[in-house]
Amino acid sequence: MDATVYRGPHEMEVEEIEEPELEGPNDAILDITTTAICGSDLHMYEGRTTIDEGRAFGHEIMGIIEEVGDGVESLEPGDRVVLPFNIACGYCRNCVDNYTAFCLNADSETPGGVYGYAMMGPYQGGQAEKVRVPHADFNALKLPDGDEHEDDFVMLADVFPTGWHGTELADLEAGESVVVYGGGPVGLMAAYSAKLKGASDIYLVDRVESRLELAEEHCDATTVNFEEEDPTEVIPEQHGGKVDKGVDAVGYQAIDGGRHSHGDGAYDKSREDPSQVINDLIGTVRATGKVGIVGVYFSSDPNPPEHVDEPGELRVDFGKLFESGLRIGTGQCDVKRYDRRLRDMIIEGRAEPSFIVSHRVGLDEAPEMYERFDEREEGVTKVLLKP
Ligand SMILES: [Zn+2]
Ligand SMILES: [Zn+2]
Repeated sequence: MDATVYRGPHEMEVEEIEEPELEGPNDAILDITTTAICGSDLHMYEGRTTIDEGRAFGHEIMGIIEEVGDGVESLEPGDRVVLPFNIACGYCRNCVDNYTAFCLNADSETPGGVYGYAMMGPYQGGQAEKVRVPHADFNALKLPDGDEHEDDFVMLADVFPTGWHGTELADLEAGESVVVYGGGPVGLMAAYSAKLKGASDIYLVDRVESRLELAEEHCDATTVNFEEEDPTEVIPEQHGGKVDKGVDAVGYQAIDGGRHSHGDGAYDKSREDPSQVINDLIGTVRATGKVGIVGVYFSSDPNPPEHVDEPGELRVDFGKLFESGLRIGTGQCDVKRYDRRLRDMIIEGRAEPSFIVSHRVGLDEAPEMYERFDEREEGVTKVLLKP
C-alpha cells in the first residue's frame, strides 16, 4: 500500500510500504478515508526531531474498520471511526486518570504514544491507505455511518481537541478574555473553542494574512500581525489592560518578529527564539491569570539554530512570571477527554471546525503540500489527504 514516508529533512516520498497486520487480539486495521498534515509534522519534516528515515508520518486519521482482532468487542468491520492521535492502553495509571496523552504502556521513549511521530513510539503513521490501531476498543471513536461531516470529524483526531485543550489548560471560562499565539490549525481551533465557550474578547497573533482573516471571520477574534506590531504593547492597549487567559499554539520554533532579530529572512532559522511566545504570554496575560501551552516543545533538537546554545532549555522571564502569580498548564492533549463531546457538537451543528481546511488532495500530492505548508504559504491553512 502507499504511504507518505520521511526520507530526510524536507524530503517526503509517497512509497509502497508493507500493509499493516493485526499484531495482537486488541488491534484493528483501519481503511483510511481522510487523513491530514499537521503543523507538528513540520518539526519532523524540517529535520528538527529524532524521527527515523523510512517512517510514515500522519497522526490525524479516520476511516472504516476493515478487520478486528479476537479481543475487540465494540467494533466491527464497516464501522466508521476517528482515531485520537494518542495511542493509549486504557488501563495504566495515567489512562485511568484520563491522561491518555501520557500512557505508560505506549512503548515509547517518553510517556504517551502517537502514530508516526518522533519520540512517541514505533507506530507507523496514517498518511497512508491503512493503519494498525492498537487497543482499538479504547482508542477508536465511533462516528455516524455515511460520509456526512467527514472534514469536520477528521479535526477530532487532533487539532480541535488540542485547541480546546489549550483553553482548558488555561481554565478559560465564559466572559473571560484570551489571547492565542499562533494562527495555524491548532491556534485557530483554540480561538474557535474560546468563541464556543463564550469568551468575551479573543485575540489571535500570527503573521500570515489568510490565517488572520479566518480568525476574524470564524472566531470573532481581533488579530495582531506580530511582524508589524508588538502584541505585548497593542493587546493591553486595545483591551484596556492585559487579558485573563492565554494559549501558546506555536511552540519551540517561534519566530521573534524582527523586534530583536538575529537576521532578516522571514523563515530564517536565525530568527527563531524558542522562548518568544512564553515571554509574550507573560507580557499579555494579567497577574494571576492562566496560560495553556499546547505548542510543541522537545527536550532535544538535533539541528538547532546556531544562537540556541542548549536546545530544549528556555530563557523564560521567570521573575515576571512569579511576580504576576501566573499559572501555566502544559502538554499534549488527552484527546479522549474531549472527543465525544466535540463530536456531538459537530453532529448537532454547534461546531464546524472544517472552516480551516484549505486543500483536499490525493496521497500523491502530499510531498508538494508538505513543502507549501512548511513555507506557510498564504492560503495553505489545513491540508487533508484522501488516500
Ligand atoms: Zn496533529
Ligand atoms: Zn495507558
